Amino acid sequence: MHYFHYKNKELFCEEVPLRAIARRVETPFYVYSYRTLKRHFKAFDSAFAQAPHLTCYSVKANSNLAVLRAFFNLGAGADIVSGGELMRALNAGADPRKIVFSGVGKKKEEIEYALDSDILLFNVESSQELKIINLIARKAGKVARIALRINPDIDPSTHPYITTGLNENKFGIDIKTSLQQYREARKLKNLEIVGVDCHIGSQLTDIAPFIDALRSIKDLIFQLKKEGINISYLDLGGGLGITYSEETPPHPKQYARALLKELKGMKCTLILEPGRVLTGNAGIIVTRVLYTKKSEKKNFVIVDAGMNDLIRPSLYGAFQEIVPVKISRAREIVVDVVGPICETGDFLARDRRLPRFRPGEFLAVMSSGAYGFVMSSNYNSRARAAEVMVSGKDFYVVREHESYEDLIRGESIPEFLNPKRR
Ligand SMILES: *Cc1c(COP(=O)(O)O)cnc(C)c1O
Repeated sequence: MHYFHYKNKELFCEEVPLRAIARRVETPFYVYSYRTLKRHFKAFDSAFAQAPHLTCYSVKANSNLAVLRAFFNLGAGADIVSGGELMRALNAGADPRKIVFSGVGKKKEEIEYALDSDILLFNVESSQELKIINLIARKAGKVARIALRINPDIDPSTHPYITTGLNENKFGIDIKTSLQQYREARKLKNLEIVGVDCHIGSQLTDIAPFIDALRSIKDLIFQLKKEGINISYLDLGGGLGITYSEETPPHPKQYARALLKELKGMKCTLILEPGRVLTGNAGIIVTRVLYTKKSEKKNFVIVDAGMNDLIRPSLYGAFQEIVPVKISRAREIVVDVVGPICETGDFLARDRRLPRFRPGEFLAVMSSGAYGFVMSSNYNSRARAAEVMVSGKDFYVVREHESYEDLIRGESIPEFLNPKRR
């Protein structure tokens, strides 16, 4: 469910016509619906209401400060994967004791920053990382709370680039050696073992792989208990999929019911790290048609949003629906919707049946609220798009469109290249 809909053939976000935003904000721009964000968070979080749990929004899916603040206001914690995300989360008002820090490559400075901020726990991904965290904590005279991220070797049947829980993936600690790793961790004086963690992949549309992962973790928790290691947090990661096209992912209620059934009798606090399911369908990107042209084989619609703005179609071959901002009576034709970037892989849609568009018309690429703006780049020296949040009949620019100055910030030409000195 989301609040993008047509009224009189005109696409609205909540009560704001997108053309009204396009009159004020340069295209392309992202639009997030506050009401949708809120609805998604509440649907997800309340599904787990009967069990002690913490919903740690996965910041990497959409890290705009306004989006973060919206979730924190509703009681969300944060799942972060870098010092930069920690800074954003704190800046947006996160409770540090609801922050979990994941990621395979945490740097020393990032660990120090997180310890200093007194976050809830570190999801540790290797034995070397365990030792480094212990060392840093000792120097700081602190004790770091940790969970080990387990790789349960489960195939979530999703895109290979977003599979994370197979033993060929770089993530986590092999489930087979995990018990040994916990024993090692216990010897480290400046660590407190509090949890077990896993995250098996993204855009999962089936519950079974989650349950398989949960069972592996449960077994491990029982084994740990036998050794006197008590686990208070069971972190099952994120990964719940959304509908981009025909997918039929489980509703958060079904997902929660299945997990909670499996968790009966366990005394842990469940941690969840949803990203895509909260923001994906709460955002779109609006782009303007620049040109149309026809080659022998194809009809092209050239728009002002490229792979630098939205890379999912290029990177994963992902399907995202494209709709007109104003419905016309134009006949449908099969087109490739492509961006201005000098790469053949720069497309938003291929062989898509769409109304015949004309230059100057606006299109909306749906389901762009997760892994959209956050994956954008300045490739081809294109300034990044603005982000807009809609609430009711109002809209707010929550990130300005970048300027030319932004593009060269931090760059300099060393003196020796100065022609006067040659
Ligand atoms: C990316 C990620 C998530 C969120 O995944 P979604 O598929 O967006 O729900 C959660 N936890 C970790 C560790 C991640 O890397």
